[in-house]
Amino acid sequence: CGIVGYVGGEPAGPIVYSGLENLDYRGYDSAGIALVEQELTIAKRTGEVSELDVPDVPGATCGIGHTRWSTHGPPTDENAHPHTGQAGDVAVVHNGIVENYESIKAELADAGHEFSSDTDTEVIPHLLERELESGHDLLSGLERVVDAIEGSYAIAAVRAGSDRIVATRHESPLVVGHGDDASFLASDVTAFLDRTRDVTYLEDGDIASLEAGTVTVYRDGDVVDHDVETVEWDAD
Ligand code: GLU
Repeated sequence: CGIVGYVGGEPAGPIVYSGLENLDYRGYDSAGIALVEQELTIAKRTGEVSELDVPDVPGATCGIGHTRWSTHGPPTDENAHPHTGQAGDVAVVHNGIVENYESIKAELADAGHEFSSDTDTEVIPHLLERELESGHDLLSGLERVVDAIEGSYAIAAVRAGSDRIVATRHESPLVVGHGDDASFLASDVTAFLDRTRDVTYLEDGDIASLEAGTVTVYRDGDVVDHDVETVEWDAD
């Protein structure tokens, strides 16, 4: 349903939380946050954003958040996003549906993967982790995951020990915000409009890499130059 991301010079927890609050007007049944340091700290549960206990991790300056509107698997704490892989060092939030998740899940289960949710989403971090283990970085790993999944999606992923968010979309909105020494990500620009009005709308097939104050967008392995637009209107 809703995606938020922040990487910059400030503690990410409160900024991601406030982004989720800004998306609160959309229907959802669960919420969650992943904060990045040498390890990931994740909090997620059913219910309102205000019921989420945002972990106090002042050293984490990179994080992602999600509000979930369940499509696969009932609203439970385990099914809330972010989802992690087997080793727990990647976290993923996802809007939309992975249509072919059953066959991927069966294949991964045969290879020894254990799943902790009923969602279609959880195959994404498991696939991503497998790519990282075989030597890919977060960006090329996500590129390969996208080749394996079908459906509509906006995806954001983070990895322990790396102040970076990678994101991609197919038939589901995703927008990047450019701040001073800060980069923002959201499914809806109103999530971060109180922090920056300089935005880039991602297109289907784009893969974006966000670091503090630097965003690079790739398509089929090449860097693409999208316009930076200034949002003139107000959310209220
Ligand atoms: N299909 C995913 C799930 O059920 C994502 C739903 C959403 O867009 O919030 O968890």
